[in-house]
Order: sequence, then C-alpha cells, then structure tokens
Amino acid sequence: MTIQTGLWFDPAKLLIGGHWRPATGGASIPVENPSTGEAIASIAAGTADDVEAAVSAGEVALDGEWGAMTATERGRILMRLSRLVEERAETLAHLESADIGKPIAQARNDAKALARYFEFYGGAADKVMGETIPYQAGTTVLTLREPHGVTAHIIPWNYPMQILGRSVGAALAMGNACVLKPAEDASLSALAVAALAEEAGLPAGALNVVTGWGHEVGAALSAHPRVHHVSFTGSVGTGRRIQTAAAENVVPVTLELGGKSPHIVFDDCDLGAALPTLVGACIQAAGQTCSAASRVLVQRGIYDEVKNRMAAAYRALVAGPASESFDLGPLVSAKQKDIVARYIAKGRAELTVAAEGRIHESAPAAGHYVAPVLFSDVPADHALAQEEIFGPVQVMIPFADEAEAIRIANGTEYGLVAGIWTENGRRQMRLARKLHCGQVFVNNYGAGGGVELPFGGVGKSGHGREKGFEALYGFSRLKTVSIRHG
Ligand code: NAD
Repeated sequence: MTIQTGLWFDPAKLLIGGHWRPATGGASIPVENPSTGEAIASIAAGTADDVEAAVSAGEVALDGEWGAMTATERGRILMRLSRLVEERAETLAHLESADIGKPIAQARNDAKALARYFEFYGGAADKVMGETIPYQAGTTVLTLREPHGVTAHIIPWNYPMQILGRSVGAALAMGNACVLKPAEDASLSALAVAALAEEAGLPAGALNVVTGWGHEVGAALSAHPRVHHVSFTGSVGTGRRIQTAAAENVVPVTLELGGKSPHIVFDDCDLGAALPTLVGACIQAAGQTCSAASRVLVQRGIYDEVKNRMAAAYRALVAGPASESFDLGPLVSAKQKDIVARYIAKGRAELTVAAEGRIHESAPAAGHYVAPVLFSDVPADHALAQEEIFGPVQVMIPFADEAEAIRIANGTEYGLVAGIWTENGRRQMRLARKLHCGQVFVNNYGAGGGVELPFGGVGKSGHGREKGFEALYGFSRLKTVSIRHG
C-alpha cells in the first residue's frame, strides 16, 4: 500500500528557495505506517549541503520580495494559507494518520488547529508594535520589532501539524525566513503544508523544508553560523545538544522539551467533571504528548473512589488502527513501542496494576500497539512517577494535604503543565502560584491546546514561550532608536 493518490506535493523532495528537488546525494528514508507496519512512501534524506542551500535561500528571500513585504501583506498570506489548510484538512488528517498512527478524529483536530494557528498569526502580524520612551529633552526614543533573520525549526513526530503551525506561523508573521526540519517519522504533513504556503503566495525562500535524519540535518541546522534563532521541540537530550550547538554561535534558542505533568485531585472537586479529563489528558495521542497528565495525585479521602472509576474507564479503552476512531492508535515506531514496553514491564514487576485496556482484534500484528495501563499507589520517587514514558501509561499517587500535593507535584525535574481539581478558590490561586511549571489549568486540562495560550516549560521542560501573542516577541528582536533633534 502507498499513500493516497491526488497529493499536491512530492514526498521524496525537499523545498529549497522555491524549488522542489531530491536530497544532495539522492539518499532517502522509508516512511512506515505504524498501524500496519507497511512502507507507504519515502522521504529525502537531506544533507549539510542541503541545509547550507536552504539557509542561503532564506537570506535571498530576506533581501528580496519577502523582506520587503509589510506586516499586513505577510498576515494576508498566512490568512490565505489558513483557508487552504481548512479546504484540504481532510487529506491532511488522513496523511498524518497514516504517517504517525494518530486516530483520524485526533488528526482532524490537529488539522483544524493548524488552520487556526495561521489565522491567529496572520491576524496578529500587523499588531505587534514598538514604544516611544520618555528620555532626555530634545531626544525621541522608540523601539522597533525586527525579525531575527533566518530561523531554524526542528520539530518532533507527535503533533507535527500543531507544532509547525505555532512555530513557523509566528516566525513568518514577524518576517523571518524559516528552515523547517520535520522529524524523520513525520515529514509528510510538513511538505504538504509548505506546498500550500507556495499556493497561498508565500515568496520563494521564506519557508524551506529539509527532511532527513536529526544527527545530520538537525545537527547541521542548529550549528549553522548564519541561523539567527533556533526553535526546537523534542527530547531533553536533543535539546541539550541543540542549545550547545547554538551557543557556539551565540544565538537564542527556544526549547519545548518533555514533561511529567500532574493532575492534582482534591476531595472537594467536582469528580464527575474531572474523571473524563483525568484519563483523556494522558491517553490522547497514545500518551505521546509532552503535556500528557501522566501523574494523577489524589487526596486520600477520595482515593479509592477515583481509583475504581479510573480503572473502569481504563478497562473500556481500546487501541486499534488509526484509520478508525479507536481511543488510541499505535505508537509511532517499533523503537517507541520498545521503550514503553520496558517501562510497563518494570511497572508490572514493582508496582500494582489498577487496570488496563486492550488491543482490538483488527489491529495488524506488525503495527506498534500498546494496551494502556494504569498503575496505583505508586511511590512518588519511583522511575514510572519520575521519568517521561511517552506512552499510554498513567500512575496514581495518594496525598494527605495541600502541602504534600505541592511537594509531590514539584518533585520531578520537569515543569510543563499542571491540572488542579478543587472547588476551593483560595486553594486554586495558592497552587497556581506555587506549582513549578509553565501552565496551570484549574478544573480543566487543555493538554497544550489553545492556540492563544502561551506555552512552555521550566526546568528540564525547557525555556522560552511559543503559542499565543507571546511567541511573536520570541520570534523578533527589539531595536532601540534614540533620535536627537532638539
Ligand atoms: P527527538 O529529540 O528525538 O527529535 C526531535 C527532532 O529533533 C526531530 O526532528 C529529530 O530529527 C531532531 N534531532 C534528533 N537528533 C538531533 C540532533 N543531534 N541535532 C538536531 N536535531 C536532532 O524527540 P522525539 O523523540 O521526536 O520527540 C519526543 C520528545 O519530544 C519527548 O520527550 C516529548 O516530551 C518532546 N516533546 C515536547 C513538546 C513540547 O512542546 N514541550 C512537544 C512534543 C514533544
């Protein structure tokens, strides 16, 4: 089986300076459908030479038509791109579903979010303003917001469309020229969107896509001396390598890394409202979500009730082929399945299984399926309560009072998102301030959703903020101009 016909781009080519061409050297990487294990396409394995060509193409665009555009013109192109994404949303969703194994209903949501990112940043492009600053008599001081120049965007495989939208959308709105390096497991939607951007009228070189291996294309891009900003979403280990490479060139880096996000459930909460979210915020995308609520901290008075009700929800969960809307699809690759299987085996040996879901009988044996598992009474310092698993595995941890809840919640090296479930308004505000993380949800859990909401981490979850209006400041630099006229 191959991917559907009627696509508007060639998956085996790179986009550099408005030209679609194979990788220098002609190497390619097979694309596997994780639901079936079948090869469905191949993508180009770019090289350092391709990165060099893409950076040069970005510079040419900045010196030419792209650099000369007004913010309003840039915004209009992004708005047109948003409409094209909406028109092709169904094809984009099927493509993503076949490429990474995301259940089709969730892939449709990602396509919708992608359109919304381009709409949001298209509308925002000409609303970023500088200031005038009171200073000496006879002098006017003003600030200008300027693009960095050529920006690098290195993204992972779990939410390719959403992460592309938030990162490239904001960078283009501010007038940067982007070089996008999608994950080797998830490049099809990035190529599809780049072709739509051309159709929307984006000038050649404003968005370049170099597919390929991380250690080759990603490494060359993050170390490139003429790249002026690096936006990275992915693992802590790779983030560290990228920050180190960018440090050599003294350029800013935005890192969106992993997480071990807690749901904190107090005995005064509206449990009926909390329960679907407690499970859903972890098993979405088969647990391959940086903001997955993988720890559920429950106050002792309601612990058994929450455990029993979550266990019942787990027993009803079914993993199956992504083309149908099961609760979960497969994991993205055999490698990811092995990592998750090792954690589950460790959990079975050392912890209590509260409940598990199942794999549907229609799931092909060669697909990378994992049945979701809920562990209960997990010590807060256990590896499964400390390390990011990136699979459908959730741990329950009991706590006595607010002080213990905060201690456990803040007790990992990550700090991305936290969910609080309580009807006590004072407690909501106290916890929102005391939790070490970038985003707090009270009586809801956006799991990174919400185009308008700034998003990012503290600690090993990274630094810098993407999404929302805030991202526009990160993808630009401030220049102060002092004019003496008195
Ligand atoms: P990864 O770090 O292996 O890969 C991410 C990207 O980096 C890919 O494009 C890859 O090709 C590239 N890369 C790999 N090695 C590189 C190198 N040496 N130099 C430059 N680039 C390189 O991560 P992954 O396995 O694709 O994604 C899973 C991780 O990403 C998880 O830990 C997850 O928490 C994190 N993540 C975070 C967010 C967030 O917003 N905070 C979102 C999604 C995923």
